[in-house]
Amino acid sequence: MTNQVNPFILADGKKPSCMEMLQLILDGEASAEQQAYFKSHMDKCAPCFKTYDLDITIKELLKTRCCGDSVPAGLVDQIKNQISLNKAS
Ligand SMILES: [Zn+2]
Repeated sequence: MTNQVNPFILADGKKPSCMEMLQLILDGEASAEQQAYFKSHMDKCAPCFKTYDLDITIKELLKTRCCGDSVPAGLVDQIKNQISLNKAS
């Protein structure tokens, strides 16, 4: 085990959850350090990898389909449901 310092740890010493880390990454608010840490974390954490992969897929899909126009409400959920259904089968 390497004892890598987690750059996501907050000033108060609280260790963030996977979801909190993901949120920062996906919002584009993570620093370069945090992004690098998260990349190596994803190699070992399947839930993070799946969520990250899913989100990137959806963003790419929306970019090509909607050309930057506002996304209709519910579309993202619809796509997410479809993808998770496909993956489950
Ligand atoms: Zn994780």
